[in-house]
Amino acid sequence: MAHLLPILVPTPAHSKIHLAGGMLSWLSEQTLSPGMLVRVPLGKREVLGMVWDRPTETRDTPTHAVDADKLRPITEALTALPPLSESWRRLVDFTARYYQRSAGEVALAALPPALRELSGEQLARRLKKQLRAGPNPESAGTPVSNLPTLTAEQATALEALAQGDASAPFLLFGATGSGKTEVYLRAVQAMLARDPQAQALVMVPEINLTPQLEARFVERFGAAAVVSLHSGMTNPQRLQSWLAAHGRPTEEGEAAGVIASPVRIVLGTRMAIFASLPRLRLIVVDEEHDPSYKQQEGARYSARDLAIYRGRLENAQVILGSATPSLESWHHSRPAEQGGRYVRLAMPNRVGAIARPDAPGGGLPLVRRVDMRHQPKGAVVSPPLLAAMRERIARGEQCLVFLNRRGYAPVLHCAECDWKSECPHCSAYRVFHKIDRTLRCHHCGYTERVPRACPSCGSPDIRPIGRGTEQIEEHLAELLADVRRPLGAAATGEAGTGGGPVRIARIDADTTRRKGELQAQLAQVHEGEVDVLVGTQMIAKGHDFRRITLVAVINPDTALFSSDFRAPERLFSLLMQVAGRAGRDSAAGASEVWVQTEQPTHPLYEALKRHDYPAFAAQQLLEREQAGLPPFSFQALVRTEARTQEGAQAFLNAASALGQDAATPLAVTLYPAVPMSVQRVANVERAQMLVESASRAALQRFLSDWQATLHDLRGTPEGQGILRWAVDVDPLAI
Ligand code: ADP
Ligand code: ZN
Ligand code: ZN
Repeated sequence: MAHLLPILVPTPAHSKIHLAGGMLSWLSEQTLSPGMLVRVPLGKREVLGMVWDRPTETRDTPTHAVDADKLRPITEALTALPPLSESWRRLVDFTARYYQRSAGEVALAALPPALRELSGEQLARRLKKQLRAGPNPESAGTPVSNLPTLTAEQATALEALAQGDASAPFLLFGATGSGKTEVYLRAVQAMLARDPQAQALVMVPEINLTPQLEARFVERFGAAAVVSLHSGMTNPQRLQSWLAAHGRPTEEGEAAGVIASPVRIVLGTRMAIFASLPRLRLIVVDEEHDPSYKQQEGARYSARDLAIYRGRLENAQVILGSATPSLESWHHSRPAEQGGRYVRLAMPNRVGAIARPDAPGGGLPLVRRVDMRHQPKGAVVSPPLLAAMRERIARGEQCLVFLNRRGYAPVLHCAECDWKSECPHCSAYRVFHKIDRTLRCHHCGYTERVPRACPSCGSPDIRPIGRGTEQIEEHLAELLADVRRPLGAAATGEAGTGGGPVRIARIDADTTRRKGELQAQLAQVHEGEVDVLVGTQMIAKGHDFRRITLVAVINPDTALFSSDFRAPERLFSLLMQVAGRAGRDSAAGASEVWVQTEQPTHPLYEALKRHDYPAFAAQQLLEREQAGLPPFSFQALVRTEARTQEGAQAFLNAASALGQDAATPLAVTLYPAVPMSVQRVANVERAQMLVESASRAALQRFLSDWQATLHDLRGTPEGQGILRWAVDVDPLAI
């Protein structure tokens, strides 16, 4: 039995295989080591598996209890590939434990899908090809003499990073346009100067942001040093990037599994946190507050939080960057005397900003609030905002109009009988899309042509209520029809291009469905072919619109009254980001952000006006502390889906009853089951239950014991109606 090692296969946490400690295979003859890939029989299938470490004996995995006749031989070992490292395996173990999944599921999902299809032979050939292609020509990148001179703030931040070790993560709290990306570039450069073999992982929240980041890194370090990893790539592309980061065996060291020259810099989205990086020394998480770092399926991990863990594990420096950090990270970066564990580095000023008394916040735009209670009733765009826009356009400047709702109107309504465009399959209204005259459900996708008359009473008097981006676009076209751009518009900088009517463009999920469309539309904006850009949060993130000097926010108030305690945090960061799009190139004080609101004196808008994230955060954290909410407590949600709401809740309530005895001594609170905010989607009823504790460790202990209870419940009457259930640790949406 001395040669037995468990082999992980992709099975969910609650399957029998997991409870038996992973599938065990007889590994005689071959000398296999943990982290090696193998192909193994699983039922009638053959799957990719990974040799894992010998388990320390636990209750669930008694190593002595392996039943010899249950063992099956592995099909083949993919020995050409160097094994995944010890620290990579510890990262997977931690993720599985913390997020209540199986190591097999996490490990195999973290590998590029194309690996699943390759035989050992094919993989070996593939690696040979990459070996022949390398070593990569060291294309130079930017010569040091051509680098921009650092601002004082950048220099100070980089000094602190150079002094720091890997034991404390850094929070780079820098305004939009303060030059955070330049700090990342220099930090990578410094890392490579110290250790030319070192690797850096740089993460961004969205696929759409990777091309511009990639361009900047390639320009600086040369194409050979950089690869991307995100789900928008084809499987072969992903495999190639993954292998490049993982490294290949050297010609001579092939048998010994020696890894040669992996690529230096991996750029990616949240999935990249699991990239194999044998020489990882630096992890950057840009826009660390962004909810996209949280995976919403399978193992519901936070790539931001795993970055902190991985940094500690691998002795790599971690930099979290944001203009509006998550309240968790902000709290962790309070002064060390108060218990803070992260080092906060502040860069409050935009690059090139001239400090002026009338331009507080280092060249950030002036925020104006329009009190909509004193505007003509029903005005979508208030008269003062409209006047300001007309002025900007007439001067050849660009405007951005932000409304976080796509479609023409969120509801269609019958004035006669009160019919509303509900989705028959969801507890939600179908959105009216005028462009193709459809009613579309944004939850299940159910789409119908707009009826000519009310489907309920036949009245022709059916009208849209509320507004979306499509309607704003249409409306602005009317309101601005008589405005003329100047000849040789300043926005384009080219003579003879101006002088025409206003050009309005819209960017949202509807206009950017096809690949490449978003990039094409953004390019139009950059080239000055657009005067007014209407869009959703899609345009809020990262894009650097130098020529936009006015940003208008149409109707942000709803988030102030949301039942989700994180809604104000999200709104503030979204508004700060939208504001950050304005006038990065223009003279300080020249650009403006207009917020139309019925709550102009709300503290959130007061803080926004001053660009004062710290004040906003302090106020929010105080509220959170008083209410015992994160980061002052720790939460998990159990979500269920069933045919009936009663069924969905019965499972949760039964689980709660069974967990109560364990929860009480640990001071873990189990809340009653409730319907989810969108209770029914595609005819499936959804419910959730909150589990909370002031101690992360107590919550973890409770959850790992309770996992088996939840699993066993599937077999009882309460579990019969359940279609799916899942635990979400540190959930972002309550
Ligand atoms: P952030 O990531 O904080 O939004 P960036 O790093 O993108 O900011 O910098 C904003 C702009 O300023 C970019 O166009 C960048 O090239 C430029 N920039 C950054 N640092 C400097 C510097 N030290 N000198 C001149 N320009 C800089
Ligand atoms: Zn009707
Ligand atoms: Zn629906």
